Amino acid sequence: MAVIGTDILATKKLLEAGKVVGIPTETVYGLAGNALNDDAVLQIFKVKNRPQFDPLIVHTNSLKKIKSFVMDFPQKAQQLAEAFWPGPLTLLLPKAETISDLVTSGLGTVAVRIPNHILTLELLSELDFPLAAPSANPFGYISPTSAQHVDKQLGKKIPYILDGGSSQVGIESTIVGFEEDETVVYRLGGVSVEAIENVVGAVRLVAHSSSNPKAPGMLKSHYSPRKPFFISSLKEVLKDHSPQKVGYLTFQKVSKLVPIEHQRILSLSGSYTEAAKHLFAFMRQLDALEVEVICTELLPEKELGRAINDRIRRAAVRE
Ligand code: AMP
Ligand code: MG
Repeated sequence: MAVIGTDILATKKLLEAGKVVGIPTETVYGLAGNALNDDAVLQIFKVKNRPQFDPLIVHTNSLKKIKSFVMDFPQKAQQLAEAFWPGPLTLLLPKAETISDLVTSGLGTVAVRIPNHILTLELLSELDFPLAAPSANPFGYISPTSAQHVDKQLGKKIPYILDGGSSQVGIESTIVGFEEDETVVYRLGGVSVEAIENVVGAVRLVAHSSSNPKAPGMLKSHYSPRKPFFISSLKEVLKDHSPQKVGYLTFQKVSKLVPIEHQRILSLSGSYTEAAKHLFAFMRQLDALEVEVICTELLPEKELGRAINDRIRRAAVRE
């Protein structure tokens, strides 16, 4: 099993030696390797069992460093960076030659982000290379929001997990790019569309078109628990399953129809940010129960409710 700890120097040494390690971020935990070392990048794909056509996000701690990885940093990118970095926003920008095609899956753009986590920012400030870091889960499964989640699924394959506690945002970053003069959102995430529009004006959303090859993170069956996961009313699910065999993921309200220990309430007070923070951990907990199915509902389509619904919809697809 991986060592779980808070030793930044040990993490740094492993990364310098070309190893991949688990790191905390405010969105979810990442599986990190030297983005400028092709062997390390290949290991990331291998450990995750991630297809190489699904590109990786490059993380670092300063705008200055990021500007050395991209050919152009448009004004809207600058405004968004100033408003949301460090934070759960990823920008897609034309890549510089320093970034290998392995990282970007051959695309001309690179995804860059400054994560907002104190340990990881300190680690990044100590490194003279950026970190490629997708979420630290086996491809297609629920993203990890704690060091223990990472350990459970990838612990046998990596030497170290830097433990930064529970991820404070809890869902992945919002991915934003620029086409001509237009701002385009490719993946809904920790920064709401409303917040982005407040800074740069109207955006185009392509996040729901799951066939778009530009953002394979939008692959349909993603973030999935192992148990069948239905978006449905409890009453409907209870026609085919006994109450003892149903798990229930709900936004605000407890139900009397299934045992309370089979229910997870995302936010009793109706807070979207609290709901996002709990979402993946609760999905994992329900998946681990002795139930046959998990039933859930959608949240109102606003603010982070939209990103949460996006994850719920994809988790619910079974093909
Ligand atoms: P993850 O790090 O697992 O949250 O996934 C990263 C996601 O970012 C990928 O699945 C893509 O959807 C998106 N992405 C990363 N790099 C690029 C890129 N160069 N062009 C388009 N999308 C990208
Ligand atoms: Mg992922």
